[in-house]
Amino acid sequence: MSWKELAQTQPYVVQMLTSSLKKERLAHAYLFEGSRGTGKKRVALQLAKSFFCGKKEGVEPCQICPDCKRIDHGNHPDLHLIEPDGQSIKKQQVEHLQKEFTYRGVESSKKVYLIDQADKMTASAANSLLKFLEEPGAPTLALLLTEQVQHMLSTVLSRSQILTFSPLPREAFIKILTNEGISLPISSLLSSLTTSYEEAMGLAEGEWIAQARNVVIQLVEELHSRQNQVMFTLQEKWFPHFKERKEQELGLDLLLLWYRDLLYTQVGKDDALTYLDQKETLSQQVLSSSQSRISESMSAIMEAKRYLSANVHPQLLMEKLMLRLQEG
Ligand SMILES: [Zn+2]
Repeated sequence: MSWKELAQTQPYVVQMLTSSLKKERLAHAYLFEGSRGTGKKRVALQLAKSFFCGKKEGVEPCQICPDCKRIDHGNHPDLHLIEPDGQSIKKQQVEHLQKEFTYRGVESSKKVYLIDQADKMTASAANSLLKFLEEPGAPTLALLLTEQVQHMLSTVLSRSQILTFSPLPREAFIKILTNEGISLPISSLLSSLTTSYEEAMGLAEGEWIAQARNVVIQLVEELHSRQNQVMFTLQEKWFPHFKERKEQELGLDLLLLWYRDLLYTQVGKDDALTYLDQKETLSQQVLSSSQSRISESMSAIMEAKRYLSANVHPQLLMEKLMLRLQEG
């Protein structure tokens, strides 16, 4: 499997990863999130090959050297797979690996941790892993896979670059929606929110989603350049529009999609944008934002979503979130 082939099903993820590979600027930890069957593990193994292979052509691993072959056979000495042991991934599982690395005296070589169902890590397992990742030394890459990003610990989210694996060819879904008479900006938004035709058509009824989109755009513009307005807009526009729990969740999703667009804008992936008629604003905002800053904002929004599902008062969590988003 080549990156080129993988790009056919996950073009955006592959673009992000290969562009970092080219610049030799991979993050220390990636979180691949997306539903079952989206190719997270395939991409992770390919990335591990590109990471280890000494005979790459550009970013493409050679597929025939001992490193590549061992990854195919699942017995590469420096690629470690961690999976839930029963209900969870426990601290001992992470520590066991760390000890193993030390015993074998291979601290100087590169290492990859592949953690499947990373949302099942206990807090102490996650902390143990993070501590290890932050220790200076040999290049270490952690690839965390999850179908349940909402259950990930915020400490992990904030230290990982989050890549979303999309279940459906987006363009195809957008076309279906525009054929139903839904405008392109709204079709684009819906196709980022759901892959279900029924859900998309339900959301598209009436003016609610178009107004929601306007509120989000106003808020992110203010977060960027008119920060003294933010709390006012929150009171006057956000809360009156996003009333029910479900609507509040959707509001946070819309906000998250804006920050994801900033990431896409940064890597020049304009055709992946959700807010595709907002290119100009996105390009302006990205000038004063770093990739890590954008990732932090996304983590903050996901954390707010978790607080929401844990029944924290929406007013409180939104105000806190606005403060965090303003920090940049
Ligand atoms: Zn190779």
